[in-house]
Amino acid sequence: MKLKIGLTFLAGFATCVALLALVAAKGSPTKAMTDRDVYYPATEDLKPDEMRVVACGTGMPNARPKQAAACFLVELGNGDKFIFDIGSGSAERLSAMKIPYDYLDKVFIGHLHSDHFGALADLWIGGVIGNRIKPLRVWGPSGHKPEFGTKYALEHMEKVFTWDSGSRQGNVDIRGQVLEVTEFDYKGINQVIYQENGVTIRSIPAIHALDGPVSFILEWNGLKLAFSSDTFPNKWWLKYAKGVDLAIHECFAPPKILIVKQKFGPGTALNVSTQVHTSPAQFGKVMSIIKPRMAVAYHFFNDFDTLPDMTEQVRQTYDGPLSMATDYMVWNVTKDDIRVRMAVIDEDIWPQPAASGPKLPPDRSTRIGFTDFILSGREPFLEVVQQIYDDINAEYGTDYEVPTN
Ligand SMILES: [Zn+2]
Ligand SMILES: [Zn+2]
Repeated sequence: MKLKIGLTFLAGFATCVALLALVAAKGSPTKAMTDRDVYYPATEDLKPDEMRVVACGTGMPNARPKQAAACFLVELGNGDKFIFDIGSGSAERLSAMKIPYDYLDKVFIGHLHSDHFGALADLWIGGVIGNRIKPLRVWGPSGHKPEFGTKYALEHMEKVFTWDSGSRQGNVDIRGQVLEVTEFDYKGINQVIYQENGVTIRSIPAIHALDGPVSFILEWNGLKLAFSSDTFPNKWWLKYAKGVDLAIHECFAPPKILIVKQKFGPGTALNVSTQVHTSPAQFGKVMSIIKPRMAVAYHFFNDFDTLPDMTEQVRQTYDGPLSMATDYMVWNVTKDDIRVRMAVIDEDIWPQPAASGPKLPPDRSTRIGFTDFILSGREPFLEVVQQIYDDINAEYGTDYEVPTN
């Protein structure tokens, strides 16, 4: 018996070797595919009339490895790039797109929940270290009182990072540390808040948790994208997002999922899912009224066990084109087609060179400096450091001297 199995195995093995030899003799049976099913960041030029949207955060306020909180990157064929919301965890997804930080300089914040702007400091400060030498421009809504507005929030964010900013002065090029904040009226209806280079971005009021939130509508080259940030279904969205090419709207987990997965009580679950947010069946209703070319649902944990229920509830009220978004989903939008793929990312990301020109060397005279107490603790190891300076100067033709303090 043993021998028979052994012989059968040997015969099979011999056949495999023969087949492999045949294939090897002819070369690979397939050629490299030219039309890829996935998107590898920074490997595809946009056509002049094309828009690419990348989901860089589709989750909830609770941090998790699989999904960052709200963030969508919009890239246009004219070279412009816009960030809509920048929720906690999303800065690393933005970096995965391998775009020089100078191009990631325009952020539109729909409202001031941490899951919609919690990673702003990461982009702001990380961008400086990541070679952004231009100011970071941020647009966001006012509040019903000044202290509930975007300006107040970001002025205080700058204060929180006083030590951080001070520590970099004189050590690196800090031109990118400037924050340019444009606060606009949250009650504006279809008001233009940005108009440059053929791109118009408008805001409409959103209804979510407290006065202040807005949704955005971007128009360029005959294409139109609407981004809800967070909102309860409302008349402004139904009117102004009608017929858009890409309608990105929150679609929160329904009450039952919040009760089972998140241990919410039924009262809290009902309120959060259907009153503070838009549940899947409400989302479907909204989409069936505005009829976009593609409806994009986000703001839920998109898992093997939640997605079937979520989709079924959307389908109770909507039967049009639908993407149930998760992080790294990508839409290429033209007038003729909307192609949906997933991005395949490289985790070993380094910042790209500054796109706006060379970085300035540090001007050490502008450093705030140490107290004598801390300086007295330094161990300079001059014999080691001198060699490092000599090697770098020799390789790059510079003449930097080891500082004495
Ligand atoms: Zn919110
Ligand atoms: Zn949210």
